[in-house]
Order: sequence, then structure tokens, then C-alpha cells
Amino acid sequence: MHLQILTGLLLGVLFGIGSSAIGWNDWVVDWVKPFGTLFVNLLKLIAAPLVLASLVVGVSGLSDVGKLSRLGGRTIALYMSTTVLAISIGLLVVNWAQPGQYITPEQRDALKERFSSQAASKAETAKQVTEQSPLQPLVDTVPSNIFDALTDNTQMLQVVFFALFFGIGIILLPRQKTVVVRDFFESVNEIILKLVEVIMKGAPLGVFALLASLVADFAGDDPRAALELLKALGAYALTVVAGLAVVLFVVYPIFLWLGARYPTADFFRGMVPAQLLAFSTSSSNATLPVTLERVEQNLGVSGEVAGFVLPLGATINMDGTSLYQAVATVFIAQAFGIPLDWGDQLTIVLTATLASIGSAGVPGAGMVMLVVVLESVGLDPAGIALIMAVDRILDMARTVVNVSGDAMVAVLVARRSNDLSVLPSK
Ligand code: ASP
Repeated sequence: MHLQILTGLLLGVLFGIGSSAIGWNDWVVDWVKPFGTLFVNLLKLIAAPLVLASLVVGVSGLSDVGKLSRLGGRTIALYMSTTVLAISIGLLVVNWAQPGQYITPEQRDALKERFSSQAASKAETAKQVTEQSPLQPLVDTVPSNIFDALTDNTQMLQVVFFALFFGIGIILLPRQKTVVVRDFFESVNEIILKLVEVIMKGAPLGVFALLASLVADFAGDDPRAALELLKALGAYALTVVAGLAVVLFVVYPIFLWLGARYPTADFFRGMVPAQLLAFSTSSSNATLPVTLERVEQNLGVSGEVAGFVLPLGATINMDGTSLYQAVATVFIAQAFGIPLDWGDQLTIVLTATLASIGSAGVPGAGMVMLVVVLESVGLDPAGIALIMAVDRILDMARTVVNVSGDAMVAVLVARRSNDLSVLPSK
């Protein structure tokens, strides 16, 4: 299947480039983009019920609450350590490559001017986050009404909380009292996983439409100007991509091998469709149904562990986003000639960790939270205007890492608790 998706992706890019070259952008937006939107909507449609069902099944399948807390502790510890590592790698790469020196003051001012209003609206959204009390994110985790939470895809953490809480209730009761509910959620889970398979049949077409319209949108009426922008920000974009590549192709394989003796090739073979989807949709949440299916059925992680680790990861674990936030902050400082000392870099480690936890698994969320990181080291949030032009492209790349990081942790946690079934290569 991944060959078909890859073909859709490449054809989409070519189609987007071709139609921009002959000025068909509007046609692509009117007649091709809707198919991409339909495909993403289908995935989003099943994301919330799937998180609910898989997590309830996952938690209620545990023998006792003690196992849940051990699993939770391990998962959070791994999530935090990989995030801090990713940020450190980002900082090393950006301080070494110094992409900020490749942007001229004229290019910088032109970018600032062109994207100033969009930057201001992002900064405004971020302001609402920084103005709230420090414990507000904790308060926001607990919904006051589960149906409200289920109606808003950005409130996935609330659904996760409810499912955990509900699952704990099931564990605490004698089995015979919960049989019906367990069976019900197991069936819902199975049905939704089946729907994932059905939806994925449309993936090549969906991915084609998404990529074609993305390229057409990016090129706009003036493909030459778009290329100029890409050139100005090329060094920065390459730095982000290089950091992400190190995490994906070096750090994760090392973790997989040391923590689970898990072969890298098997991991990537199992995850490619989810990674391609993450790339095309730029959304961990929309990709979650496929990530769950792949991790359970192709990586051999038990439903209990996958159902617990992955929905949580899609909301709070974003190694790619945190790395990008670190690189972007230092790049913006470099472009404005503002030196950042060791203390500032440490502040970035801390705030980018929190900012990535706070970023929702939807397109562009990481850039809003980047404002918080910029402010923590005294940079003007309007600086995000500099990186906006290439943000969508980098969002695609960082989402691949976000999704892969969740799957990697699921494998490690499953290995420790003996929840990893036959290794795929065996
Ligand atoms: N799009 C990313 C995700 O869904 C979040 C971000 O970095 O904007 O994982």
C-alpha cells in the first residue's frame, strides 16, 4: 500500500507544480483540494471515537491500576527524555550550521513586511495561552462535559483523560459487572479499526489531492516569488530537516535497538503508511487511527499498550515540533543579530519541551506555541514572520517525526511489560 501512497504523493507534487506553471491554481483549489479535505475529514471523524474506544479497551485490559501507573510512568519518562534529546540535537545543529547568517537584511525585512499581519494573528492566539494561569493547562485536561470534549478535535487530551478515568473505573469493579461495557468498547474498537482500513483505500487519491493543492497554494499566482522565498529560507529549512533526520534515522533506531532489540528495518516497514500520511496531512491527530492500526498490527505492540501510549503521544509527545521550535528560535535570533547565551539555550530546552506538549496535533499548532519560546528568551514574537513562508513544508516533516516518536515509545514500553508479540521479522 505504501507504494501506492508514495505514488499519489509524488504525482500530487508534480501535478501541483505543473498546474501552477500554467496558472491553473484556482482550478486545483476548486476541483482537487476538496478530495484531500474529504479524506482528512474521514480520518478526523473517527479519531475521537477511536481514542475513546482504544484507550478504554487498553486500560480496562490491564490487570490492576498498579500496572497502569507503571506503564504511565515509563511512557511519560520516555516521552520527556526523547523530547529533551530532540531539542538538544536541534540546538547543536542550528548553532553549528548558523542558518541565520545566510539571510540578508533586505530579505529579512521583506519577509517581515510580507508576513507581518499573519504573524500578528499567531502572536495574538499565543497571547491567550501566556496570559492564563500557569496551571490552566492542567485544568484544561479535565473536561466538565465529555460530550463537549468529544465535539472538539483539539481537545483530544480531555478525551484521553475521560477514557483513562473510565477505564480505571472498569478495572476497579469485579469483572462480571463490566462485561457488557468491555465487550461494547472492544467491538467499537474493532469496527473503527476496520473503518481505518476502508478509509486507507482512498489514501493514494487523498494524498494526491492534498499535495497537489498544497503546492498550488504555495506557488500562488507567482511561482517565481515562491521559489525566491524558498531560496532565502533554504539554509534554515535544511537545518530543521537535518535535525529531524538525525532524530528519525539515528536516535530512534538506537533507542529501538537498546531498549527493545527491535530491528530498524521492521520498524520503518511497518510505519511507512502512517509516516506518509503524517507527511501529507501535517496532523498527528488525523494520522492517529492509522498509527494505531500499524503499531498494533505491524509492529506487534499489544492493544493495551498501543491504546494507551499512542493517543497520549499524539497529544503531548512531539519530538519533531520541539526540535523545530528550538531551531526556529535560534535562527530568528541569528537573523536579527541577537546573541543567545547558555542560559538562553537552557531556557529554550525548557520552554520548547512545554510548548511542544502544549501544541495540539493539528497543522500549524507548533508555530503558535513557538511564540511562547521566542518570548521566553526575550525575542519579538513578530519574528515568526521570518519563517512563515516555509512553515507548512516543515510542518509536514516534523509531523512524521512526531508520529514515529510515539510509535517508537510504544514499542519500548511494550517490550518492558512483555506486551510485544512476535517480532515481525521472526
Ligand atoms: N502538525 C504537528 C502535528 O500534528 C504539530 C505542529 O508542529 O504544528 O504533530
